[in-house]
Amino acid sequence: MLKGKTALVTGSTSGIGLGIAKALAAQGANIVLNGFGDAEGPKAEIVALGVKVAYHGADMSKPAEIEDMMKFAAAQFGAVDILVNNAGIQHVARIENFPVEKWDAIIAINLSSAFHATRLALPAMQAADHGKGWGRIINISSAHGLVGSPEKSAYVAAKHGIVGLTKVTALENATSGVTCNAICPGWVLTPLVQKQVDARAAAGSISNEAAKQQLLGEKEPSLQFTTPEELGALAVFFCSPAGNNVRGVAWNMDGGWVAQ
Ligand code: NAD
Repeated sequence: MLKGKTALVTGSTSGIGLGIAKALAAQGANIVLNGFGDAEGPKAEIVALGVKVAYHGADMSKPAEIEDMMKFAAAQFGAVDILVNNAGIQHVARIENFPVEKWDAIIAINLSSAFHATRLALPAMQAADHGKGWGRIINISSAHGLVGSPEKSAYVAAKHGIVGLTKVTALENATSGVTCNAICPGWVLTPLVQKQVDARAAAGSISNEAAKQQLLGEKEPSLQFTTPEELGALAVFFCSPAGNNVRGVAWNMDGGWVAQ
């Protein structure tokens, strides 16, 4: 379905980003990976799906490096047809104790990076298909883009911000073939969440398994983690012809978290 298209997924050396990159590659899209983790393993997994892959190590908190990555992607594969703004970090502390540098880093990586990658990707998407436009921008927000939780001020602010950016991007391109939507996962067992499980297990002197169950029990009625594969399938739907008129949604896949 996506043969000949190119997808750039930020923060795709692990977790959700890698899951989405693999789902898009399985549909034939060439992939540009990004992130700080090991890139060789993910590259091999994607090549095995029969598509081309490239990697750029841009630090998503640095606009000049994002610009360099977008130029690199266009030079490698001609254009970025699908942009998945996924890179993200977390820090947990009450506002009065929240380190200022952590606030700045979370806003830069989880929110501003999506603005920069989007502004740089849009002109080519708008010009595609003889000026009618074709493109898919998928922003990875969170259940925390729709509701709050204590001790996650920067993360919740950035993820709500991403939902707003998604709506504006969708509206500004509503008469073209360029769509923009957000995905709002609940708990997904990736390195980002494993750190929170570990902290909970250590604080409560409980097992890793008990910490996972506590985490799920507080927020997710399904008591199940969402998987990167499930999120990848949703991203594929947004890229499909059936997704042509899905514009500006914030689609939660969260085991019922925000239904409560
Ligand atoms: P992860 O830690 O596995 O992946 C994060 C990726 O971002 C990694 O590839 C990492 O190297 C990269 N990254 C971090 N800082 C970067 C920087 N400055 N520049 C470039 N890359 C950088 O975590 P994940 O859980 O897969 O998170 C992916 C996205 O999903 C994040 O935006 C996160 O907020 C969101 N999310 C995660 C969950 C969850 O439960 N795991 C839930 C909702 C939303």
